[in-house]
Amino acid sequence: MDRDFGRGLYIDGQWQQSRSGRSFPVTNPADGSVIAEIPDAGAEETRAAIDAAHRAFPAWAARPALERARILMDWSRAMEAHQDELARLMTDENGKPLAESRGEVTYAAGFAQWFGEEARRVYGEIVPAATSLKRIWVLRQPVGVVGAITPWNFPAAMVTRKVAPALAAGCTVILKPAEQTPLTAIAIVRLLEEAGIPPGVVNVVVGQDPVAIGDALLDDPRVRKITFTGSTEVGKHLMRRSADTMKRVSLELGGQAPFLVFADADLDLAVQGAIASKFRNTGQTCVSANRIYVEEPVVDEFAHRMAQRVKEMRVGRGTEPGVVVGPLIDRQGYEKVKLHLEDAVRQGASVATGGRVYESGGGFYAEPTVLVGVEERMVVMREETFGPVAPISSFKTEAEALERANATPYGLAAYAYTRDLARGVRVAEGLEYGIVGLNDGMPSTPQAPFGGFKESGQGREGGRQGMDAFLEIKFVSVGLG
Ligand code: NAP
Repeated sequence: MDRDFGRGLYIDGQWQQSRSGRSFPVTNPADGSVIAEIPDAGAEETRAAIDAAHRAFPAWAARPALERARILMDWSRAMEAHQDELARLMTDENGKPLAESRGEVTYAAGFAQWFGEEARRVYGEIVPAATSLKRIWVLRQPVGVVGAITPWNFPAAMVTRKVAPALAAGCTVILKPAEQTPLTAIAIVRLLEEAGIPPGVVNVVVGQDPVAIGDALLDDPRVRKITFTGSTEVGKHLMRRSADTMKRVSLELGGQAPFLVFADADLDLAVQGAIASKFRNTGQTCVSANRIYVEEPVVDEFAHRMAQRVKEMRVGRGTEPGVVVGPLIDRQGYEKVKLHLEDAVRQGASVATGGRVYESGGGFYAEPTVLVGVEERMVVMREETFGPVAPISSFKTEAEALERANATPYGLAAYAYTRDLARGVRVAEGLEYGIVGLNDGMPSTPQAPFGGFKESGQGREGGRQGMDAFLEIKFVSVGLG
Protein backbone atom coordinates (compact mmCIF):
# COMPACT_ATOMS: atom_id res chain seq x y z
CA MET A 1 0.00 0.00 0.00
CA ASP A 2 1.26 3.46 -0.96
CA ARG A 3 2.42 5.23 2.22
CA ASP A 4 3.05 8.60 0.56
CA PHE A 5 0.35 10.87 1.96
CA GLY A 6 1.77 14.18 0.68
CA ARG A 7 -1.06 14.33 -1.83
CA GLY A 8 -3.74 13.39 0.66
CA LEU A 9 -6.56 15.59 -0.60
CA TYR A 10 -8.89 13.87 -3.03
CA ILE A 11 -11.02 16.30 -5.01
CA ASP A 12 -12.84 15.56 -8.25
CA GLY A 13 -10.89 12.33 -8.74
CA GLN A 14 -7.45 13.96 -8.27
CA TRP A 15 -5.05 13.36 -5.40
CA GLN A 16 -3.52 16.73 -4.59
CA GLN A 17 -1.69 19.02 -2.18
CA SER A 18 -3.27 21.95 -0.40
CA ARG A 19 -3.63 25.21 -2.34
CA SER A 20 -1.30 26.94 0.14
CA GLY A 21 1.29 24.16 -0.08
CA ARG A 22 1.10 23.85 3.72
CA SER A 23 1.06 20.48 5.43
CA PHE A 24 0.79 19.13 8.97
CA PRO A 25 2.23 16.09 10.75
CA VAL A 26 0.36 12.97 11.79
CA THR A 27 1.96 11.37 14.83
CA ASN A 28 2.07 7.93 16.40
CA PRO A 29 0.44 8.11 19.87
CA ALA A 30 2.70 5.30 21.10
CA ASP A 31 5.80 7.52 20.98
CA GLY A 32 4.90 10.89 19.44
CA SER A 33 6.98 10.23 16.30
CA VAL A 34 5.86 11.76 13.00
CA ILE A 35 4.43 9.14 10.62
CA ALA A 36 3.45 11.37 7.71
CA GLU A 37 3.01 14.95 6.56
CA ILE A 38 -0.34 15.57 4.94
CA PRO A 39 -1.86 18.58 3.18
CA ASP A 40 -3.45 21.21 5.39
CA ALA A 41 -6.64 22.14 3.59
CA GLY A 42 -9.25 24.71 4.56
CA ALA A 43 -12.30 26.48 3.19
CA GLU A 44 -11.03 26.88 -0.39
CA GLU A 45 -10.39 23.17 -0.92
CA THR A 46 -13.67 22.31 0.80
CA ARG A 47 -15.56 24.57 -1.63
CA ALA A 48 -13.78 22.88 -4.56
CA ALA A 49 -14.82 19.50 -3.14
CA ILE A 50 -18.44 20.68 -2.83
CA ASP A 51 -18.35 21.89 -6.47
CA ALA A 52 -17.10 18.46 -7.54
CA ALA A 53 -19.64 16.55 -5.45
CA HIS A 54 -22.44 18.76 -6.74
CA ARG A 55 -21.42 18.18 -10.38
CA ALA A 56 -21.08 14.43 -9.87
CA PHE A 57 -24.41 14.00 -8.10
CA PRO A 58 -26.93 13.70 -10.99
CA ALA A 59 -25.00 11.00 -12.85
CA TRP A 60 -24.22 9.03 -9.69
CA ALA A 61 -27.84 9.20 -8.50
CA ALA A 62 -28.98 8.01 -11.93
CA ARG A 63 -26.65 4.97 -11.96
CA PRO A 64 -28.57 1.72 -11.48
CA ALA A 65 -28.46 0.63 -7.85
CA LEU A 66 -26.78 -2.63 -8.85
CA GLU A 67 -23.85 -0.76 -10.37
CA ARG A 68 -23.41 1.31 -7.22
CA ALA A 69 -23.68 -1.92 -5.23
CA ARG A 70 -20.96 -3.59 -7.28
CA ILE A 71 -18.50 -0.81 -6.48
CA LEU A 72 -19.33 -1.08 -2.77
CA MET A 73 -18.87 -4.86 -2.83
CA ASP A 74 -15.50 -4.50 -4.58
CA TRP A 75 -14.51 -1.87 -2.03
CA SER A 76 -15.43 -4.22 0.81
CA ARG A 77 -13.36 -7.04 -0.68
CA ALA A 78 -10.40 -4.70 -1.24
CA MET A 79 -10.42 -3.64 2.43
CA GLU A 80 -10.41 -7.30 3.48
CA ALA A 81 -7.61 -8.06 1.02
CA HIS A 82 -5.50 -5.22 2.49
CA GLN A 83 -6.45 -5.99 6.07
CA ASP A 84 -2.92 -6.30 7.43
CA GLU A 85 -1.59 -3.10 5.83
CA LEU A 86 -4.66 -1.10 6.84
CA ALA A 87 -4.45 -2.47 10.37
CA ARG A 88 -0.79 -1.53 10.66
CA LEU A 89 -1.54 1.99 9.45
CA MET A 90 -4.42 2.31 11.90
CA THR A 91 -2.32 1.14 14.83
CA ASP A 92 0.42 3.59 13.83
CA GLU A 93 -1.89 6.61 13.87
CA ASN A 94 -4.46 5.61 16.49
CA GLY A 95 -2.48 3.36 18.84
CA LYS A 96 -4.98 0.51 19.18
CA PRO A 97 -3.51 -3.02 19.39
CA LEU A 98 -3.04 -4.67 16.00
CA ALA A 99 -5.64 -7.37 16.65
CA GLU A 100 -8.24 -4.67 17.30
CA SER A 101 -7.19 -2.79 14.18
CA ARG A 102 -7.64 -5.96 12.13
CA GLY A 103 -11.07 -6.39 13.69
CA GLU A 104 -11.95 -2.82 12.79
CA VAL A 105 -10.97 -3.36 9.15
CA THR A 106 -13.38 -6.30 9.00
CA TYR A 107 -16.06 -4.20 10.73
CA ALA A 108 -15.45 -1.34 8.25
CA ALA A 109 -15.56 -3.69 5.25
CA GLY A 110 -18.81 -5.07 6.69
CA PHE A 111 -20.54 -1.70 6.25
CA ALA A 112 -19.51 -1.51 2.59
CA GLN A 113 -20.85 -5.02 2.07
CA TRP A 114 -24.06 -4.48 4.02
CA PHE A 115 -24.93 -1.24 2.22
CA GLY A 116 -23.89 -2.77 -1.10
CA GLU A 117 -26.60 -5.33 -0.40
CA GLU A 118 -29.10 -2.74 0.83
CA ALA A 119 -28.62 -0.54 -2.26
CA ARG A 120 -30.97 -2.80 -4.21
CA ARG A 121 -33.70 -2.57 -1.57
CA VAL A 122 -34.54 1.15 -1.70
CA TYR A 123 -38.18 0.34 -2.29
CA GLY A 124 -40.94 2.87 -2.85
CA GLU A 125 -44.66 2.36 -2.24
CA ILE A 126 -47.91 2.61 -4.13
CA VAL A 127 -50.66 3.73 -1.78
CA PRO A 128 -54.38 3.25 -2.52
CA ALA A 129 -55.87 6.63 -3.52
CA ALA A 130 -59.21 8.05 -2.47
CA THR A 131 -60.49 8.08 -6.05
CA SER A 132 -60.06 5.83 -9.08
CA LEU A 133 -58.81 8.87 -11.00
CA LYS A 134 -55.60 9.16 -8.97
CA ARG A 135 -52.56 7.12 -8.13
CA ILE A 136 -50.23 7.78 -5.19
CA TRP A 137 -46.57 6.93 -5.55
CA VAL A 138 -44.07 7.25 -2.75
CA LEU A 139 -40.48 7.41 -4.00
CA ARG A 140 -37.22 7.42 -2.02
CA GLN A 141 -34.53 9.52 -3.60
CA PRO A 142 -30.96 10.42 -2.56
CA VAL A 143 -30.79 13.51 -0.39
CA GLY A 144 -27.91 15.04 -2.42
CA VAL A 145 -24.42 16.20 -1.45
CA VAL A 146 -23.35 14.93 1.99
CA GLY A 147 -20.73 16.34 4.37
CA ALA A 148 -19.36 13.49 6.51
CA ILE A 149 -17.24 14.33 9.57
CA THR A 150 -15.59 11.48 11.49
CA PRO A 151 -13.65 11.02 14.78
CA TRP A 152 -10.25 9.46 15.54
CA ASN A 153 -11.32 6.50 17.65
CA PHE A 154 -12.54 4.31 14.76
CA PRO A 155 -10.56 5.66 11.79
CA ALA A 156 -11.99 3.17 9.27
CA ALA A 157 -15.41 2.05 10.50
CA MET A 158 -16.81 5.53 11.14
CA VAL A 159 -15.88 6.40 7.54
CA THR A 160 -17.54 3.39 5.91
CA ARG A 161 -20.57 3.57 8.23
CA LYS A 162 -21.33 6.96 6.63
CA VAL A 163 -19.83 6.80 3.15
CA ALA A 164 -21.20 3.36 2.22
CA PRO A 165 -24.90 4.12 2.85
CA ALA A 166 -24.53 7.55 1.25
CA LEU A 167 -23.12 5.98 -1.92
CA ALA A 168 -25.66 3.16 -1.86
CA ALA A 169 -28.46 5.72 -1.73
CA GLY A 170 -26.99 7.67 -4.68
CA CYS A 171 -25.52 10.60 -2.73
CA THR A 172 -22.10 12.18 -3.29
CA VAL A 173 -19.79 12.90 -0.36
CA ILE A 174 -17.19 15.26 1.08
CA LEU A 175 -15.40 13.35 3.82
CA LYS A 176 -13.54 15.17 6.59
CA PRO A 177 -11.69 12.62 8.73
CA ALA A 178 -10.25 13.50 12.15
CA GLU A 179 -6.93 15.31 11.93
CA GLN A 180 -5.32 12.77 14.29
CA THR A 181 -6.19 9.76 12.11
CA PRO A 182 -6.57 10.82 8.46
CA LEU A 183 -4.23 8.19 6.99
CA THR A 184 -6.55 5.20 7.30
CA ALA A 185 -9.35 7.26 5.72
CA ILE A 186 -7.10 8.27 2.82
CA ALA A 187 -5.96 4.66 2.36
CA ILE A 188 -9.48 3.27 2.21
CA VAL A 189 -10.62 5.98 -0.20
CA ARG A 190 -7.68 4.99 -2.44
CA LEU A 191 -9.16 1.49 -2.44
CA LEU A 192 -12.55 2.96 -3.32
CA GLU A 193 -10.94 4.74 -6.26
CA GLU A 194 -9.45 1.44 -7.42
CA ALA A 195 -12.91 -0.12 -7.07
CA GLY A 196 -14.11 2.35 -9.72
CA ILE A 197 -15.79 5.24 -7.93
CA PRO A 198 -16.23 8.04 -10.51
CA PRO A 199 -14.48 11.42 -10.01
CA GLY A 200 -16.26 13.78 -7.63
CA VAL A 201 -18.51 11.15 -6.06
CA VAL A 202 -16.30 10.92 -2.98
CA ASN A 203 -13.89 13.69 -1.99
CA VAL A 204 -11.55 13.82 1.00
CA VAL A 205 -10.60 17.08 2.69
CA VAL A 206 -8.09 16.93 5.55
CA GLY A 207 -6.83 19.86 7.56
CA GLN A 208 -5.82 21.24 10.93
CA ASP A 209 -8.65 23.73 11.17
CA PRO A 210 -11.92 21.80 11.51
CA VAL A 211 -13.89 25.03 11.82
CA ALA A 212 -12.78 26.29 8.39
CA ILE A 213 -13.74 22.99 6.74
CA GLY A 214 -16.89 22.59 8.82
CA ASP A 215 -18.12 26.14 8.16
CA ALA A 216 -17.57 25.79 4.41
CA LEU A 217 -19.79 22.69 4.49
CA LEU A 218 -22.37 24.31 6.74
CA ASP A 219 -22.61 27.58 4.80
CA ASP A 220 -23.13 26.00 1.40
CA PRO A 221 -26.80 25.33 0.57
CA ARG A 222 -25.76 22.67 -1.93
CA VAL A 223 -24.67 20.45 0.96
CA ARG A 224 -27.99 18.85 1.88
CA LYS A 225 -26.89 16.61 4.69
CA ILE A 226 -24.36 16.59 7.53
CA THR A 227 -23.51 13.26 9.08
CA PHE A 228 -21.26 13.47 12.11
CA THR A 229 -19.68 11.24 14.73
CA GLY A 230 -17.86 12.90 17.60
CA SER A 231 -18.43 14.92 20.73
CA THR A 232 -21.84 16.17 21.83
CA GLU A 233 -20.50 19.73 21.96
CA VAL A 234 -19.45 19.78 18.29
CA GLY A 235 -22.61 17.86 17.32
CA LYS A 236 -24.81 20.56 18.85
CA HIS A 237 -22.83 23.24 17.05
CA LEU A 238 -23.31 21.47 13.70
CA MET A 239 -27.02 21.04 14.34
CA ARG A 240 -27.50 24.71 15.20
CA ARG A 241 -25.55 25.84 12.17
CA SER A 242 -27.39 23.43 9.87
CA ALA A 243 -30.66 25.19 10.63
CA ASP A 244 -29.85 28.15 8.37
CA THR A 245 -29.96 26.02 5.24
CA MET A 246 -32.21 23.37 6.79
CA LYS A 247 -29.75 20.56 6.16
CA ARG A 248 -30.64 17.06 7.28
CA VAL A 249 -28.43 16.02 10.21
CA SER A 250 -27.41 12.67 11.65
CA LEU A 251 -25.42 12.81 14.87
CA GLU A 252 -23.59 10.01 16.66
CA LEU A 253 -22.34 11.64 19.86
CA GLY A 254 -20.94 10.90 23.28
CA GLY A 255 -22.13 8.19 25.65
CA GLN A 256 -22.09 7.45 29.36
CA ALA A 257 -22.91 3.75 29.27
CA PRO A 258 -24.20 2.02 32.40
CA PHE A 259 -23.37 -1.68 32.81
CA LEU A 260 -25.79 -3.50 35.16
CA VAL A 261 -24.97 -6.84 36.73
CA PHE A 262 -27.76 -8.57 38.67
CA ALA A 263 -27.07 -11.15 41.36
CA ASP A 264 -28.54 -13.93 39.19
CA ALA A 265 -26.16 -13.19 36.29
CA ASP A 266 -23.49 -15.56 35.02
CA LEU A 267 -20.68 -13.60 36.68
CA ASP A 268 -17.90 -14.88 34.44
CA LEU A 269 -19.88 -13.92 31.37
CA ALA A 270 -20.57 -10.50 32.92
CA VAL A 271 -16.87 -9.96 33.68
CA GLN A 272 -15.98 -10.96 30.13
CA GLY A 273 -18.61 -8.54 28.74
CA ALA A 274 -17.49 -5.71 31.02
CA ILE A 275 -13.87 -6.16 29.93
CA ALA A 276 -14.80 -6.24 26.23
CA SER A 277 -16.95 -3.15 26.58
CA LYS A 278 -14.64 -1.21 28.90
CA PHE A 279 -11.14 -1.83 27.58
CA ARG A 280 -11.57 -2.08 23.81
CA ASN A 281 -9.65 0.72 22.14
CA THR A 282 -8.14 1.60 25.55
CA GLY A 283 -11.62 2.59 26.73
CA GLN A 284 -11.87 5.24 24.04
CA THR A 285 -15.20 4.22 22.56
CA CYS A 286 -18.58 5.90 22.77
CA VAL A 287 -20.24 2.63 23.87
CA SER A 288 -17.63 1.90 26.52
CA ALA A 289 -19.05 0.83 29.92
CA ASN A 290 -18.56 4.02 31.89
CA ARG A 291 -20.39 3.09 35.09
CA ILE A 292 -20.61 -0.49 36.36
CA TYR A 293 -23.48 -1.16 38.78
CA VAL A 294 -23.49 -4.54 40.53
CA GLU A 295 -26.24 -5.91 42.80
CA GLU A 296 -25.06 -5.81 46.41
CA PRO A 297 -24.79 -9.56 47.22
CA VAL A 298 -22.33 -10.17 44.34
CA VAL A 299 -20.46 -6.87 44.11
CA ASP A 300 -17.34 -8.04 45.97
CA GLU A 301 -17.15 -11.29 44.02
CA PHE A 302 -17.66 -9.50 40.68
CA ALA A 303 -15.01 -6.87 41.50
CA HIS A 304 -12.58 -9.58 42.63
CA ARG A 305 -13.03 -11.64 39.44
CA MET A 306 -12.79 -8.56 37.26
CA ALA A 307 -9.63 -7.32 38.99
CA GLN A 308 -8.02 -10.77 38.58
CA ARG A 309 -8.65 -10.69 34.83
CA VAL A 310 -7.69 -7.03 34.39
CA LYS A 311 -4.41 -7.52 36.26
CA GLU A 312 -3.26 -9.79 33.43
CA MET A 313 -3.92 -7.27 30.65
CA ARG A 314 -0.73 -5.94 29.10
CA VAL A 315 -0.30 -2.23 28.29
CA GLY A 316 2.10 -0.95 25.63
CA ARG A 317 2.61 -0.23 21.95
CA GLY A 318 -0.18 -1.67 19.84
CA THR A 319 2.36 -3.40 17.60
CA GLU A 320 3.92 -5.44 20.44
CA PRO A 321 2.71 -9.03 20.71
CA GLY A 322 0.48 -9.64 23.71
CA VAL A 323 -0.45 -5.99 24.24
CA VAL A 324 -4.20 -5.55 24.68
CA VAL A 325 -4.29 -1.95 25.92
CA GLY A 326 -2.53 0.63 23.73
CA PRO A 327 -1.63 4.27 24.38
CA LEU A 328 -4.20 7.00 24.92
CA ILE A 329 -4.68 9.21 21.87
CA ASP A 330 -2.97 12.33 23.27
CA ARG A 331 -2.08 14.46 26.28
CA GLN A 332 -5.63 15.79 26.57
CA GLY A 333 -7.00 12.24 26.83
CA TYR A 334 -4.35 11.41 29.41
CA GLU A 335 -5.15 14.48 31.53
CA LYS A 336 -8.82 13.52 31.55
CA VAL A 337 -8.19 9.94 32.69
CA LYS A 338 -5.79 11.21 35.36
CA LEU A 339 -8.32 13.71 36.64
CA HIS A 340 -11.09 11.09 36.82
CA LEU A 341 -8.86 8.68 38.74
CA GLU A 342 -7.47 11.24 41.15
CA ASP A 343 -10.90 12.69 41.88
CA ALA A 344 -12.36 9.24 42.61
CA VAL A 345 -9.52 8.26 44.95
CA ARG A 346 -9.61 11.64 46.71
CA GLN A 347 -13.33 11.14 47.34
CA GLY A 348 -12.90 7.68 48.83
CA ALA A 349 -12.80 5.11 46.00
CA SER A 350 -10.18 2.32 46.17
CA VAL A 351 -8.03 0.96 43.37
CA ALA A 352 -8.56 -2.82 43.08
CA THR A 353 -5.99 -3.07 40.31
CA GLY A 354 -4.06 -0.69 38.03
CA GLY A 355 -4.25 3.01 38.80
CA ARG A 356 -1.10 4.25 37.12
CA VAL A 357 -1.37 6.92 34.42
CA TYR A 358 1.99 7.80 32.93
CA GLU A 359 4.08 9.18 30.08
CA SER A 360 6.59 6.85 28.52
CA GLY A 361 8.88 7.34 25.53
CA GLY A 362 6.74 10.14 24.09
CA GLY A 363 3.41 8.31 24.53
CA PHE A 364 0.63 8.58 27.13
CA TYR A 365 -0.54 5.42 28.85
CA ALA A 366 -2.99 4.33 31.53
CA GLU A 367 -3.03 0.95 33.23
CA PRO A 368 -6.33 -0.86 32.97
CA THR A 369 -7.89 0.01 36.28
CA VAL A 370 -10.73 -1.29 38.45
CA LEU A 371 -12.10 1.12 41.04
CA VAL A 372 -14.37 -0.02 43.87
CA GLY A 373 -16.43 1.90 46.39
CA VAL A 374 -17.34 4.45 43.76
CA GLU A 375 -20.18 6.93 44.26
CA GLU A 376 -22.33 8.99 41.92
CA ARG A 377 -20.84 12.32 43.00
CA MET A 378 -17.42 11.37 41.56
CA VAL A 379 -16.49 12.77 38.14
CA VAL A 380 -15.74 9.26 36.87
CA MET A 381 -19.48 8.45 37.20
CA ARG A 382 -20.75 11.72 35.77
CA GLU A 383 -18.59 12.21 32.67
CA GLU A 384 -17.39 10.04 29.81
CA THR A 385 -13.86 8.96 30.89
CA PHE A 386 -12.66 7.78 27.46
CA GLY A 387 -9.96 5.71 29.10
CA PRO A 388 -9.39 2.26 30.68
CA VAL A 389 -10.94 2.94 34.08
CA ALA A 390 -13.77 0.67 35.30
CA PRO A 391 -15.63 2.19 38.28
CA ILE A 392 -17.80 -0.28 40.22
CA SER A 393 -20.68 0.72 42.45
CA SER A 394 -23.38 -1.41 44.12
CA PHE A 395 -27.18 -1.23 44.01
CA LYS A 396 -29.97 -2.82 46.04
CA THR A 397 -33.02 -3.09 43.76
CA GLU A 398 -33.88 -3.31 40.06
CA ALA A 399 -35.74 0.00 40.30
CA GLU A 400 -32.71 1.72 41.82
CA ALA A 401 -30.42 0.27 39.12
CA LEU A 402 -32.67 1.55 36.34
CA GLU A 403 -33.08 4.94 37.93
CA ARG A 404 -29.33 5.44 38.33
CA ALA A 405 -28.61 4.07 34.86
CA ASN A 406 -31.04 6.53 33.29
CA ALA A 407 -29.97 9.56 35.36
CA THR A 408 -27.83 11.12 32.63
CA PRO A 409 -28.38 13.41 29.65
CA TYR A 410 -26.82 10.71 27.45
CA GLY A 411 -28.49 7.65 25.96
CA LEU A 412 -26.23 5.75 23.57
CA ALA A 413 -25.47 2.26 24.89
CA ALA A 414 -26.34 0.35 28.06
CA TYR A 415 -25.69 -3.21 29.19
CA ALA A 416 -27.47 -5.60 31.53
CA TYR A 417 -26.52 -9.08 32.70
CA THR A 418 -29.13 -11.37 34.21
CA ARG A 419 -30.34 -14.96 33.77
CA ASP A 420 -33.92 -14.00 34.60
CA LEU A 421 -35.76 -13.60 31.29
CA ALA A 422 -38.55 -11.43 32.68
CA ARG A 423 -36.06 -9.12 34.38
CA GLY A 424 -34.02 -8.93 31.19
CA VAL A 425 -37.07 -7.85 29.21
CA ARG A 426 -38.12 -5.26 31.83
CA VAL A 427 -34.66 -3.78 32.07
CA ALA A 428 -34.02 -3.73 28.30
CA GLU A 429 -37.33 -1.92 27.85
CA GLY A 430 -36.72 0.45 30.75
CA LEU A 431 -33.25 1.63 29.77
CA GLU A 432 -33.45 4.98 27.96
CA TYR A 433 -30.75 4.07 25.46
CA GLY A 434 -30.58 3.48 21.73
CA ILE A 435 -28.52 0.30 22.13
CA VAL A 436 -28.89 -2.32 24.85
CA GLY A 437 -26.49 -5.24 25.23
CA LEU A 438 -28.51 -7.86 27.15
CA ASN A 439 -25.90 -10.40 28.26
CA ASP A 440 -23.78 -8.96 25.45
CA GLY A 441 -20.79 -6.64 25.88
CA MET A 442 -20.15 -6.08 22.15
CA PRO A 443 -23.44 -5.31 20.41
CA SER A 444 -22.16 -3.20 17.46
CA THR A 445 -22.58 -4.78 14.03
CA PRO A 446 -23.30 -3.48 10.50
CA GLN A 447 -26.69 -5.26 10.43
CA ALA A 448 -28.17 -3.33 13.37
CA PRO A 449 -29.25 0.32 13.77
CA PHE A 450 -26.69 2.15 15.91
CA GLY A 451 -27.48 5.47 17.57
CA GLY A 452 -28.50 7.28 20.69
CA PHE A 453 -31.40 8.74 22.66
CA LYS A 454 -31.26 12.17 24.31
CA GLU A 455 -27.98 14.09 23.93
CA SER A 456 -26.22 11.09 22.38
CA GLY A 457 -27.51 12.16 19.00
CA GLN A 458 -30.15 11.52 16.42
CA GLY A 459 -30.65 9.21 13.48
CA ARG A 460 -29.29 5.69 13.13
CA GLU A 461 -26.31 4.25 11.30
CA GLY A 462 -26.08 0.67 10.13
CA GLY A 463 -28.94 -1.75 9.70
CA ARG A 464 -31.79 -1.30 7.25
CA GLN A 465 -32.42 2.06 8.97
CA GLY A 466 -28.94 3.34 8.06
CA MET A 467 -30.11 4.07 4.50
CA ASP A 468 -32.94 6.34 5.65
CA ALA A 469 -30.52 9.09 6.66
CA PHE A 470 -29.51 9.53 3.01
CA LEU A 471 -32.94 9.34 1.40
CA GLU A 472 -35.67 11.92 0.89
CA ILE A 473 -39.26 10.80 0.53
CA LYS A 474 -41.16 12.14 -2.45
CA PHE A 475 -44.91 11.72 -2.91
CA VAL A 476 -46.14 11.87 -6.49
CA SER A 477 -49.86 12.33 -6.99
CA VAL A 478 -50.78 11.10 -10.45
CA GLY A 479 -54.02 12.41 -11.93
CA LEU A 480 -55.61 10.16 -14.55
CA GLY A 481 -58.07 12.71 -15.97
P1 NAP B 1 -14.69 15.83 18.21
O1 NAP B 1 -13.67 16.70 18.81
O2 NAP B 1 -16.10 16.26 18.24
O3 NAP B 1 -14.19 15.58 16.72
C1 NAP B 1 -14.90 14.79 15.80
C2 NAP B 1 -14.71 15.34 14.40
O4 NAP B 1 -15.30 16.64 14.31
C3 NAP B 1 -13.25 15.51 14.00
O5 NAP B 1 -13.13 15.24 12.62
C4 NAP B 1 -13.02 16.99 14.28
O6 NAP B 1 -11.96 17.56 13.55
C5 NAP B 1 -14.34 17.55 13.83
N1 NAP B 1 -14.65 18.89 14.35
C6 NAP B 1 -14.26 19.45 15.52
N2 NAP B 1 -14.77 20.70 15.62
C7 NAP B 1 -15.48 20.94 14.49
C8 NAP B 1 -16.24 22.04 13.99
N3 NAP B 1 -16.40 23.16 14.69
N4 NAP B 1 -16.83 21.94 12.79
C9 NAP B 1 -16.72 20.81 12.06
N5 NAP B 1 -16.01 19.72 12.47
C10 NAP B 1 -15.41 19.78 13.68
O7 NAP B 1 -14.70 14.39 18.87
P2 NAP B 1 -13.48 13.40 19.13
O8 NAP B 1 -12.76 13.83 20.34
O9 NAP B 1 -12.68 13.21 17.88
O10 NAP B 1 -14.26 12.04 19.37
C11 NAP B 1 -14.62 11.62 20.64
C12 NAP B 1 -16.12 11.75 20.86
O11 NAP B 1 -16.82 11.09 19.84
C13 NAP B 1 -16.55 11.08 22.14
O12 NAP B 1 -17.46 11.90 22.83
C14 NAP B 1 -17.24 9.82 21.66
O13 NAP B 1 -18.20 9.31 22.56
C15 NAP B 1 -17.83 10.26 20.38
N6 NAP B 1 -18.08 9.11 19.50
C16 NAP B 1 -19.37 8.77 19.24
C17 NAP B 1 -19.65 7.68 18.45
C18 NAP B 1 -21.07 7.29 18.15
O14 NAP B 1 -21.27 6.52 17.23
N7 NAP B 1 -22.05 7.80 18.87
C19 NAP B 1 -18.62 6.94 17.89
C20 NAP B 1 -17.30 7.32 18.15
C21 NAP B 1 -17.06 8.43 18.97
P3 NAP B 1 -10.49 17.61 14.17
O15 NAP B 1 -10.04 16.19 14.23
O16 NAP B 1 -9.72 18.41 13.20
O17 NAP B 1 -10.59 18.24 15.52
